[in-house]
Amino acid sequence: MKKIIILLGPPGCGKGTISKELVTDFNFLQLSTGEMFRSELENNGPLSGKINEYLAGGKLVPDEITNQLVANKLKSLENDQRNILLDGFPRNLGQATFLDSIIKVTSVFFIDVEEELIIKRIAGRMNCPKCNRGYNEFFMPPLVANTCDDDQTQLVRRVDDNAETIKQRLATYYESTHPLVEFYQKRGILINILGGNRIEAIIEELKKHLEL
Ligand code: AMP
Repeated sequence: MKKIIILLGPPGCGKGTISKELVTDFNFLQLSTGEMFRSELENNGPLSGKINEYLAGGKLVPDEITNQLVANKLKSLENDQRNILLDGFPRNLGQATFLDSIIKVTSVFFIDVEEELIIKRIAGRMNCPKCNRGYNEFFMPPLVANTCDDDQTQLVRRVDDNAETIKQRLATYYESTHPLVEFYQKRGILINILGGNRIEAIIEELKKHLEL
């Protein structure tokens, strides 16, 4: 059966890194609303004017825009047999209810991380715009400062990874997204993952639960 899984957790919990591993090693299809929105902004797409202020302020893009984007994407994948990983969606109860009306979620992984670690993770993160490899100034620095080890490209940071926006993103998370932990727990499809563990250990745990 096709698996539809959700990675749920605060910003900086490692959703992006975990997703990349599942995509590379297990052929999951990743659907990241944050990445969709960032690419829309970079390419000056039709939605860019409407979403810019939300991303810059660390606030949630309105549900009617986000839900529509996800619904269109899921529709286009109806005949694709690959398992789907939702990264960064749903992010509030309205989105979770909407998702329920269009697809059956099979499991939800809650990646739990303490706030202190989250802030360091976000404040230190950088990635290579060419090969997309991720680094962290504090935990996983490149060999040469600000330079990709693989292709020597200058590393970049996300514009919303600044102290002010991080605070707002965390506040948004606790207010709107965290209640989804209880929502999915009640359904019996929530799996708790210790996000402070090494990525290898996290992937091992996910594999066990997903029977990969
Ligand atoms: P992320 O890359 O998941 O941290 O998302 C970056 C930003 O994109 C967030 O701070 C929001 O402004 C926006 N965003 C991403 N996913 C959603 C979502 N499901 N609903 C509303 N806004 C979102």
